[in-house]
Amino acid sequence: MTDEAADKAVDNCLFCKIVRKEIPADVIYEDDTVIAFRDITPQAPVHVLVVPRTHVSTVNDLEDPALAGYLIMTAKKLANELGIDESGYRLVMNCNEQGGQTVFHIHLHLLGGQQLGHLI
Ligand code: AMP
Ligand code: ZN
Repeated sequence: MTDEAADKAVDNCLFCKIVRKEIPADVIYEDDTVIAFRDITPQAPVHVLVVPRTHVSTVNDLEDPALAGYLIMTAKKLANELGIDESGYRLVMNCNEQGGQTVFHIHLHLLGGQQLGHLI
């Protein structure tokens, strides 16, 4: 991707717009690395998206192991703060069309607050 194309992707990206506070979201946590907000179409009583501030389109483009770890550690902390750590929760990251990805800025889904069905 050219620098120009990359800039355009970031300009038009829904989650970059949430990071830049250009569109509203129900933000429950943010720091220098990530922002976490409630999913607009929740699939469980707790459905939070943990999103890196930097634009990374898919897991295929993810190069920073520290960032990958930080997403998980943030989700773990939020699960504890939201009181679902002991009952249990699920972390999901979809990649590309067949993986069910619809927003092409990586995000870790934190789902819980009810018994979740088996996926596999
Ligand atoms: P995925 O299908 O894994 O790419 O997940 C994208 C998620 O983003 C879906 O669960 C959507 O419901 C959620 N979503 C889309 N737009 C918004 C928004 N404006 N605020 C919060 N969540 C959103
Ligand atoms: Zn983005």
